[in-house]
Amino acid sequence: MLRPHLRCSAAILLAASLAPALNAQQVMDPVFADHVKTWTTKPEFTSPLVDHLPAASGLPSPRDVLGHDIGAPRVLDHYADILGYYRALAAKSPRVKIVETGRTEEGRTTVIVLISSEDNIAHLDENRRNLARLGDPRGLSETDAQALIARTKPIYLALGGLHSAETGPPEMLMELAFRLAAEDSPLIGKIRQNVIVGINPASDPDGRDRYTDWYYRNKIDDTNDLDPVPGAPYWGKYIFHDNNRDINYTGASARNLLDFYLKWRPPIIHDLHESVPFLYVYSGQPPQNPSLDPLLYTELPWFSNFELTQLRRYGMPGVWDHGYVDAWSPGYVAFMSSNHNGMVRFYETFGNGGATTELRHVAPVDGPGEDRHAGDQTKREWFRPDPPYKTVVWSMRNNTNYMETGLLTALQTAATFPQEVVGNFYTKSRNALEDGRKTAPYAFVIPGDQADMTRAALLVNLLRQQGIEVGRATAEVVLKEGRFPAGSLVVKRDQPYGRLAKILLERQDYPDPKLKTYDDSAWTMGLEAHVKVVPSADLKALDVPVTPVDRYEAQGSTAKAGAPAYAVLDHGSINLALLRYALKDTPVRIAERPFTAGGRAVPAGSFIIDGHDYPRLKAALVPLGLTTVALDEPVSVPTHAAALPRIAVYSTWGSTQNVGWVRYAFDQYRTPYDLIFKDEVRKGGLRRRYDVIVVPSQGRSAKDLVFDVPMRGKPLPYTKTAQSRFLGDYGSSPDIRGGMGLEGVGELRRFVEAGGTLITLGDASAMAPDYGLAPDVEASRVSKDFYAPGPIVNARVAAPANPIFYGYPDKTIPVRWASATTLYSLPECARGMVLMDFPGGAANVLSGLMTLPDEIKNRPALIEQPLGQGRVLMFATNPVYRWQNFGEFRMLYNALFNYRNLDLGLTPSSPAAPG
Ligand SMILES: [Zn+2]
Repeated sequence: MLRPHLRCSAAILLAASLAPALNAQQVMDPVFADHVKTWTTKPEFTSPLVDHLPAASGLPSPRDVLGHDIGAPRVLDHYADILGYYRALAAKSPRVKIVETGRTEEGRTTVIVLISSEDNIAHLDENRRNLARLGDPRGLSETDAQALIARTKPIYLALGGLHSAETGPPEMLMELAFRLAAEDSPLIGKIRQNVIVGINPASDPDGRDRYTDWYYRNKIDDTNDLDPVPGAPYWGKYIFHDNNRDINYTGASARNLLDFYLKWRPPIIHDLHESVPFLYVYSGQPPQNPSLDPLLYTELPWFSNFELTQLRRYGMPGVWDHGYVDAWSPGYVAFMSSNHNGMVRFYETFGNGGATTELRHVAPVDGPGEDRHAGDQTKREWFRPDPPYKTVVWSMRNNTNYMETGLLTALQTAATFPQEVVGNFYTKSRNALEDGRKTAPYAFVIPGDQADMTRAALLVNLLRQQGIEVGRATAEVVLKEGRFPAGSLVVKRDQPYGRLAKILLERQDYPDPKLKTYDDSAWTMGLEAHVKVVPSADLKALDVPVTPVDRYEAQGSTAKAGAPAYAVLDHGSINLALLRYALKDTPVRIAERPFTAGGRAVPAGSFIIDGHDYPRLKAALVPLGLTTVALDEPVSVPTHAAALPRIAVYSTWGSTQNVGWVRYAFDQYRTPYDLIFKDEVRKGGLRRRYDVIVVPSQGRSAKDLVFDVPMRGKPLPYTKTAQSRFLGDYGSSPDIRGGMGLEGVGELRRFVEAGGTLITLGDASAMAPDYGLAPDVEASRVSKDFYAPGPIVNARVAAPANPIFYGYPDKTIPVRWASATTLYSLPECARGMVLMDFPGGAANVLSGLMTLPDEIKNRPALIEQPLGQGRVLMFATNPVYRWQNFGEFRMLYNALFNYRNLDLGLTPSSPAAPG
């Protein structure tokens, strides 16, 4: 085969104008061409870039290793096979090199595959050093910079499979790798010559395997897109789709990628997703984060417009940009590039959640699937002049053709303008240094005399993880904002990642309340961690003498031995949880009120430990950064035992993501718990087994939480078998459908009435009033124009002596607004159950966007509803929101360690009678 398949006269004309796509000398694989033709559902869904593949190149093709061409119907590959393919290719090709970057939670090796010309691959290290120098141009002259740019190749890094249900990219990337290594066409030759292509084969390797098993077991025969078989309950270990909202890089694969990024500095990262039809190309629509370099926002349409034009030229319909995802939040994984002066790109290609060919209803239709499409993407718009079809038979090969054609075209841009891509990366890095000297704030100071420095340490180490330089002041810092003691931490903005420091630490000033944003509108780290961070508009801040901090550890203190008792001071550190679990066999009491000992103030909530247990305490304390005071006299205030409740965490099967964040936090703080599902709840006897049941925010509504995956279709097993080795992890069920049902709600009620404590978080709290677990509470909907995408707002403490507020000395507490839909209310006679409420109003929106902030005025933020012998503790906030709002975590831990004493400090009210 010397030429691609030609299907019509238009294609012949097109081929003539696309001569660079092929090399007439290279022999093509007729079987591959035939497969592409057969598997592509309409002639216009492919292009001359991808309808052929070299034969007899001497390199293994995907079919040689995997036994199938890419895009084969009903075929997905497991991660080991994917990795096996790249290793086979690298073993034969001097144009391919594999860099191992670490391990996943489940032990799979993560890699980046680098592909370029033999010469570029032979000089990878030199290129890496050049990019590092250009990425940190301090002390680099303009002449030297230009000389470096001239001999440096851009790395263009493509990520596939971050979202495991988006199954096409990990398949497509193998074909792309082979094509880049084997094909001799002018276009591919030019890409090899001028660009180093990086491939992350599957950004969530654990999830790839789990989803592939799920597809083969439960989804392969599903062709009804109006009522599809649900996806796998788990991808990776914890956080599901939020692995693209993991702003602090908790996921191991994300961290491995970040480490690679900071070492290799690819100027472009391109993340390949699947959702909307047929190919959406990100172009950075508003709201845009104004702290990033304006050059980024000109580069994005520079690339996307060429891709739209080329794909249109190849006759491929339904390619568009704009109108979908904005550039406000820096928390998406591929944003690590633009956050570090590179360029983020991403695609959404139409996908079927597997490799089964299906009739797809693209335009919104009535019926059970009606919510799946946000707006009508088959409508013509200025940015979508050739919209996707209203219905289409769609295949994995269509998906491969679109994505690969787009990506090859993006690589064509990079290969045509390699010096511009590298030059822009340098310019943005240089501008970042200048911006830090020209634009206030010039620095952020984290005062070293905050009562709890353990949360400051969390914050500093997260900044360090992202490559942001932090210094420790060697002497007192005097700025126009105030005086800060020696040892205070200073983040200066005249550093390569000074813009990122600003983005993470500043308050988010949302530009236009009429604009929607795709994820959160706020993420201000200091507000979320309850750490004081002072922005400085004083240029002197740039000259403060500091020593660089690699990793920051808070300094705790131990006390003299031999005292009758000791107090571990509670200033709100989450490390008190670690201490409690480290001392699980030691009696620990909690001071109910503040007192003084030896001239030291001991706050309410402080742990009191007997002198006999001091050696154990001391060993546990040293790494935790907590402060201990010797108590020579008996404690003068009431105390109670710090409980270690038997904890269950309830999870639905259909919405495990936010449960995953709570599991992650519990694992980090070594908190033992049972993860329970519908079957355990329905079985009853909960009070015998548990003291506290935590119901994390999950599902879109209380109804979802109760009834979960609908009882339609066939049973959906999530169990381990010889063929499904990766199912049945983190829980197991012969059929995940059906939810806890009313039967389960009844068991939860029996649990509470028998003295249990039920803790509901965020949107899960709506279950309590809606299903009769909180008889005094009413839930209502926000009004139509209320819009609050995760702003940080003030909450007001209504019961300061209640144990929930140990470690929270202030009357107001910054909290992340958690609910999209629900507001609570109580009759005046039951107002005493409100532990915390929202003062509301614009002045109490601390960061990000909330329209109609008066609507939340005086609404409860935390309610304690007595019921029988027990209680329901309803958080309208989410005290464990992702791995972000560290300042709120302690409210949940306080509820756990004080679950027997949660009535303390409550004003009497007239709760409903048990019944
Ligand atoms: Zn996705």
